[in-house]
Amino acid sequence: MRQPEVRCVEFVEQVTQWLEGGLTDEERLLFEEHLAYCSPCSRFMVQFRQSLALSRMADGYMRQGPPPMVRAALQDAFRQSRR
Ligand SMILES: [Zn+2]
Repeated sequence: MRQPEVRCVEFVEQVTQWLEGGLTDEERLLFEEHLAYCSPCSRFMVQFRQSLALSRMADGYMRQGPPPMVRAALQDAFRQSRR
């Protein structure tokens, strides 16, 4: 198996750009190649995406309240508790 061209340090540095679509096609290919073969980095990616999703959700809550799906579920729960 050949050596990957992206090292873990570079991988971590590019994660944000990758998620935001800021990498060139070539960079993205190398990045995804590294992700596919490097298990520490793929574990890191899972955690990173979870924490990112959580922080985005928290951001949205503060700016505009819960997303519609959550709000509907809350309203349902509220109506049922009053019945
Ligand atoms: Zn790695």
